[in-house]
Amino acid sequence: NGLLPDAVAAQHDNHVINYIRSSRTSSVLGKIREFAIRHRNAQMIPIEMKALDLGVVDGMRYFGAFLLDVRERRELAAKNASLLAQLEQQALYDALTALPNRRAYEAQAEQAMARAARSGTALTVGVADLDHFKKINDRHGHAVGDAVLRNVAQVLRDTGRVTDVAARLGGEEFGLLFPDATLKQAYKVAERIRAAVAAAVTVLPDGTPLHVTISIGLAPLMKGASLDAAMSEADKALYAAKHQGRNKVVAAA
Ligand code: GH3
Ligand code: MG
Ligand code: MG
Repeated sequence: NGLLPDAVAAQHDNHVINYIRSSRTSSVLGKIREFAIRHRNAQMIPIEMKALDLGVVDGMRYFGAFLLDVRERRELAAKNASLLAQLEQQALYDALTALPNRRAYEAQAEQAMARAARSGTALTVGVADLDHFKKINDRHGHAVGDAVLRNVAQVLRDTGRVTDVAARLGGEEFGLLFPDATLKQAYKVAERIRAAVAAAVTVLPDGTPLHVTISIGLAPLMKGASLDAAMSEADKALYAAKHQGRNKVVAAA
């Protein structure tokens, strides 16, 4: 009985006696069940058990059990689960900024489009691109460029409405989703994002504060239109924002 967990051990003999006295079928015997038993070193070990009623021999009732140590199987299952979670994370999130990646952005856009169509609400998409980012890399090095990208990602996460989505589409380009927002309403949020990026500071290794700006193009996702078409409109608006001197939000005409 030293094998059994205390709570089970306390009831075990009663269970056996009751089983023998009654003619009820057992919920344990003959079935494969998972339990934990106590190892010599007091550690509890997961096992798979099949207990059997061996019948009566010379007036003695015998029970037997097959016990299978399932520690390795359990460990493997836990490892597989965490590996799967890690793969899912890698498939959907950008490693540098931890923002959703392009694939995740497109999936979320599809969901937002379906929801907008069902509820008849507006949906606005945006493309944001850092201004003169090549110069940041050229002047301060790639590592500083990466730090800036991480900082901007944090601003994007912190600044929109909770239902808004910001994703890294690639390089220094970000995709935005403004569910339940008309072009005009999304413009206000995008303007807040633009201002927050301009106000954010990345501190260089020598302590110098570094500022960057972002340009944003917006377009409505019209009912029945494709995401590609709306993104291409947003891209044109972004192009216009760059032409108007950058650090600007432009909404598609
Ligand atoms: P514009 O205002 O017209 O957008 O100018 P820009 O310099 O930002 O545009 P351009 O597309 O010429 O440069 C983008 C730069 O972004 C070039 C590339 O080195 C840099 N970049 C892209 N991905 C990364 C990254 O992951 N890390 C860093 N540090 N730099 C990146
Ligand atoms: Mg750029
Ligand atoms: Mg770019």
